[in-house]
Amino acid sequence: MSDPLPLSQLTTLQVGAAPERMIDAHTREGITDALHQVWADGDDWFVLGGGSNLLVGDEPFDGTVIRILTHGFQAVPGAEAGRRRIRIEAGQNWDEFVAWTVGQGLAGVEAMSGIPGTAGAAPIQNVGAYGQEIDQTLVEVELIDEATGETHVVPAGDLGLGPRTSDLKRHYGSEPRRRAVILSITLELDDVGTGAFPIRDQRIAKAIGADVGAEVTLAGVRESVLAIRASKGMVLDPADDDTRSAGSFFNNPILSESEARALPEACPRWPLVPDIEPVRVIPLESFDGYVPPAPVETAGVKVSAAWLIENAGLSKGFRLGRARASLSTKHTLALTNRGGATAWEVTQLARFVQTRVSSEFGIELQPEPVFVGVEL
Ligand SMILES: Cc1cc2nc3c(=O)[nH]c(=O)nc-3n(C[C@H](O)[C@H](O)[C@H](O)COP(=O)(O)OP(=O)(O)OC[C@H]3O[C@@H](n4cnc5c(N)ncnc54)[C@H](O)[C@@H]3O)c2cc1C
Repeated sequence: MSDPLPLSQLTTLQVGAAPERMIDAHTREGITDALHQVWADGDDWFVLGGGSNLLVGDEPFDGTVIRILTHGFQAVPGAEAGRRRIRIEAGQNWDEFVAWTVGQGLAGVEAMSGIPGTAGAAPIQNVGAYGQEIDQTLVEVELIDEATGETHVVPAGDLGLGPRTSDLKRHYGSEPRRRAVILSITLELDDVGTGAFPIRDQRIAKAIGADVGAEVTLAGVRESVLAIRASKGMVLDPADDDTRSAGSFFNNPILSESEARALPEACPRWPLVPDIEPVRVIPLESFDGYVPPAPVETAGVKVSAAWLIENAGLSKGFRLGRARASLSTKHTLALTNRGGATAWEVTQLARFVQTRVSSEFGIELQPEPVFVGVEL
């Protein structure tokens, strides 16, 4: 056990006091032993990966923080022809792994280059960027459940993965549906080689400024993504104050079509359901008098939270008075610590943004990071 470090030193937002107790787990046995210990002691607990999706409060967390410090990955059998399966330890740095896949000619995560944090945390909010999300390549995770204390291999389809969420994510102060710690994740990637191949995904093509069908290399995609992300302060860089953040602080709201239609036309939006159901014609000879009910309107349009914030009058770099927290100077969606900010200053700013957007557009922005000892 180590002396607890302040969580401001272990999170990318750089706020948060030292917890009561901290255990460094360098092996998977270390993780399970630490968990069994805290469960036996009846301690409150949470696990810490790279600390890039966490907002921790200024008061010491009254429990145990288990740091996941395992690393490494290996090929495992079971992949279809032309693909490769890789199992990655939970504490493995995500971007180092992505760089390796690109060097090996393995496609499927290259557009997620530059996302900070660990592999084990990636399914927690189903990480994604530029048209790729981990659920597209995730086969299964190995996890230890609090309810049983046992280790299971769980197929990706059983994790409740959705837009920036899963059954394992603690949401807005609530408990997760399934309290578990991921020990490893297994991905299946396409073996496309390191040469040029025609780009198929429209969203990745758009993000890197190429046409669908244009020849690209994985290394080229990674390089373009890293450059775009850096221009938005979305690649950790100690020299760039805008990267002292938890990435996007608010989720892009998902609205029903009629709610989205009520927003100004200029607000960027992305339909989640590709096509509205076409008009159904029932041939007269098979019509038995039954008229099927009209489809229920589902929340199907994602709208830009950054646009809502800017158009609620809050521009890049906005801060409250002399507070040390501000919106990023490059991207309104990131709340940043300009040096020495407290969790209280960050939450004050977050509340202000929520209130402004709510009063301007009637939409309640929901935060993306996990909160510990903090509420909005
Ligand atoms: C500059 C910047 C850019 C970002 N860009 C993106 C982006 O493009 N797309 C995106 O999706 N996210 C992005 N993020 C958010 C963040 O990087 C991801 O959510 C990442 O997966 C978090 O990993 P972590 O190891 O830092 O998790 P942490 O912040 O340490 O933990 C986050 C949550 O996961 C839990 N957790 C961590 N490890 C485990 C485990 N092994 N088992 C169970 N629970 C665990 C923690 O308890 C906590 O609840 C960005 C963040 C920053 C700072």
